[in-house]
Amino acid sequence: MARGGVKTLTLRPGRDKSVLQGHPWIFSGAVDRVDGAPESGETVAVRSASGDFLAWAAFSPLSNIRARVWTRSQDESVDAAFFHRRLATALNMRVAMNIRQETNAMRLVHGESDGLPGLVVDQYNRWLVVQFLSAGPERWREDIIRQLVELFQPEGIFERSDVDVRELEGLLPRTGPLAGRAPVGPVEILENEIRYQVNLVEGQKTGFYVDQRFNRSRLRAYAEGREALNCFCYTGGFSLSALAGGARSVLSIDSSVDALRQAQENARLNGMTVPETDWLEADVFTALRKLRDQARSFDLIVLDPPKFAPTAAQAERAARGYKDINLLAFKLLRPGGLLFTFSCSGGVSMDLFQKIVAGAAQDANADALVLERLYQGRDHPVSLNFPEGTYLKGLVCVKQA
Ligand code: SAH
Repeated sequence: MARGGVKTLTLRPGRDKSVLQGHPWIFSGAVDRVDGAPESGETVAVRSASGDFLAWAAFSPLSNIRARVWTRSQDESVDAAFFHRRLATALNMRVAMNIRQETNAMRLVHGESDGLPGLVVDQYNRWLVVQFLSAGPERWREDIIRQLVELFQPEGIFERSDVDVRELEGLLPRTGPLAGRAPVGPVEILENEIRYQVNLVEGQKTGFYVDQRFNRSRLRAYAEGREALNCFCYTGGFSLSALAGGARSVLSIDSSVDALRQAQENARLNGMTVPETDWLEADVFTALRKLRDQARSFDLIVLDPPKFAPTAAQAERAARGYKDINLLAFKLLRPGGLLFTFSCSGGVSMDLFQKIVAGAAQDANADALVLERLYQGRDHPVSLNFPEGTYLKGLVCVKQA
């Protein structure tokens, strides 16, 4: 029976170590029993096999991640004030890090790493976009929205919980305005002196890949005088950064017509003239082969594909995809040319990614040096207790003569 009416999740013997070390996930295999019939997202007390209190956690009855830890302090109750404190901490950390100096678009809450498992909040100028990714934050959605309004006083909050992971929690996709004014048309942001229009309602993810901000600025630093190729360009982030850095030209490829249209609009917004033919609607895998067959070459190439492997189990299939495009890129690269290559697959580690890129270079008969290792920006911090929080990794390689 649940102690004193508290709904309780009891772990199997010897399975308390990861919680004690501060990891926020409790997998179903570690659970001995659940008492008190908690509902989806309800707060449960997590106890060791010997009955010691370990944490308060959000219960996810359907997910393989059966519970996500809110707090390991028994005295801390999970209520509106809890969310106020956690959200304020996340917001204040970003202010203290002076991220606003670079941009008015950033991740304000990065889920587990900010002590709020399953919650993502992105800022786009005066707007917020929220994702409730798991049962816990879904149950507390009204409180979370209220606290966000109070702390941030946004023009409006829009929900983009249209993500596959919700299915694992038995939650349906959900989008729509949550507070304030619904955005009419795109929202304009300013990142490192470049203006972008962001479609919060229909754009990919929450509208923009804010996680690549620092890496775009690195690209800009290398772009002077180079002929560039930007694969998977979305709304032109790396393309405009290359042009701002003095690139001679940028050929940008994406399979999404909407993304390309927005990319062109963004170029105009910044007074950059790009020939119509330098925006190419195509499948990158096919387009790279065509460029190779036409004996084209470039001195700066960006590869920023979508997630090929959401989990470690799919890493092998992903590896083939990464190898394919990186091999072609090394072939298209002139000696002295630079490759900015990325993987945002959580299941592919930096080590594995570098091995894949090394294999691609070898098969392309290219020698290359790694100049820089890149990660998601500092508004997507990673808790030392939650290394899984690292998902974006990249290499800057120079092809040798
Ligand atoms: N570098 C971008 C983000 C890239 S997101 C930025 O900084 O904003 C990945 C992009 O790849 C999306 O725009 C998606 O439309 C596109 N995409 C996905 N599969 C593709 C394919 N096979 N060929 C071309 N583009 C593809």
